[in-house]
Amino acid sequence: MPEVPVRSQDELEAMRKAGSIVGDTLAMLAERVKPGIRTKDLDEWARQEVAKQGGRPSFPEVIHPELGTPFPGAICVSVNDEIVHGIPSDRVLVDGDVVSIDLGVIYQGFHADSATTVPVGTVSRDAAKLLSGTQEALRRGIERVQPGRGLYEVSSAIDQYATSKGLGIVRQYVGHGIGRSMHEPPQIPNYRMSSRGPLLRPGWALAIEPMLNLGSGETQVRPDRWTVATADGSLSAHFEHTVAVTPKGRWILTLPNGAAA
Ligand code: MG
Ligand code: MG
Repeated sequence: MPEVPVRSQDELEAMRKAGSIVGDTLAMLAERVKPGIRTKDLDEWARQEVAKQGGRPSFPEVIHPELGTPFPGAICVSVNDEIVHGIPSDRVLVDGDVVSIDLGVIYQGFHADSATTVPVGTVSRDAAKLLSGTQEALRRGIERVQPGRGLYEVSSAIDQYATSKGLGIVRQYVGHGIGRSMHEPPQIPNYRMSSRGPLLRPGWALAIEPMLNLGSGETQVRPDRWTVATADGSLSAHFEHTVAVTPKGRWILTLPNGAAA
């Protein structure tokens, strides 16, 4: 496995600033989600808030591996059966939708990455179950972040909880190390790994991000070549935090700081 960068305390402080911009922005967007808004409204509000706090959105600097073009949005907005990488558009959110919002921010050369899935108006019981289940799976994964513990424990905790709730685990896309780049080693699957993987070290920064479906975990890529959706059309949810391993435990870098309130 390629070497995982170890971050100094100063570097983690910069990542925390990036993370607080992400957290504040997502909290603000979640509050504004309601029937009648367009997904590109969310994108515009995100751009304004990130700029106001002195950051830069990461995703417009992500290049599509085959198209060679940058992602056309500051946020990824993935509605209902869309899992990740949905493009902000004129699509109007309607009552009963679930909308995943994913945001990366660069601050002083460091990235932070977080995602949340928000109900639009009143959603079905199954949709509510999916959202709370995915959020809990993330919480359980984060709980396993401790120096000296195996990375596989994070993956196993997510897998075990998702499976116990009958949710389909997306295997095609995984969590990742993060720092000077958006995607760094190690990969963090949301399913049980066949090997034990590395032991967590203080200074590692990890973007842990379960993507769970009401149906199977199989995926398909839409004709726009960015948007990833469930193969069976079932609803999908995505929750993510950037978490640093500290000498004593963990530090969630992407919680809101309250600046957007
Ligand atoms: Mg993300
Ligand atoms: Mg990520």
